[in-house]
Amino acid sequence: MNPALQRRLIEAVATTVIEHADELTSLDQAIGDGDHGLNMRRGLQAVLADLDTISPKPLPEALRLAGTKLVMTIGGASGPLYGSFYLGLSKALADVGAAGEIDDDTFAAGLRAGLDAVVARGKAQLEDKTMVDALTPAMDALDAALADGRELGDALDAAAAAADEGKKATIPLIARKGRASYLGERSRDHQDPGATSSHLIVKALADVVNGRET
Ligand code: ADP
Ligand code: MG
Repeated sequence: MNPALQRRLIEAVATTVIEHADELTSLDQAIGDGDHGLNMRRGLQAVLADLDTISPKPLPEALRLAGTKLVMTIGGASGPLYGSFYLGLSKALADVGAAGEIDDDTFAAGLRAGLDAVVARGKAQLEDKTMVDALTPAMDALDAALADGRELGDALDAAAAAADEGKKATIPLIARKGRASYLGERSRDHQDPGATSSHLIVKALADVVNGRET
């Protein structure tokens, strides 16, 4: 992936999630405290406001700045978790030089490291009804597609489709982590807000790499 494309990733993720903030908030109204879309919008708008500083940097540094911003501004459970995702991805890409092309396997390993950082921080397991339920199948699909020799864009489309499935599969689950877990049985039959924002993030990455404007 070339540097010009890399720069657009951070912006596309931000604009895509911001566009869906109301949907994220209404999902969080059902099983949380109704702030997920507001939290994400606040954090990602702060990233966009700093884009002139952030985006010219090499991707690892840009992700580190964006991740730090998210931790400081999103708040809630999801701020530190998404911050960890960006910082985990940043660390995994740290060896990419300033003008660096990032090869597909390195990028995929970086995204996997982002997921690992989310799990290390939040300790959620699969089917706890969290963002991990969208991110895990996405990374599995990404790795599998690349192992099959598919192009990165194609592999990210597979990842986004898997995140979409994972997100929908949170509907029948009972939440075992985060605020929604306080509801017990009553958290059933609702789609998890964080899994929904995670799907949007993976989809934005796929859209950029495939040249679809977001
Ligand atoms: P809060 O719950 O503090 O109001 P948000 O509403 O911004 O924070 O985010 C809620 C989302 O965070 C949930 O839908 C869930 O996906 C995610 N989440 C909560 N706790 C965890 C955790 N321990 N690990 C992974 N994701 C989590
Ligand atoms: Mg909330």
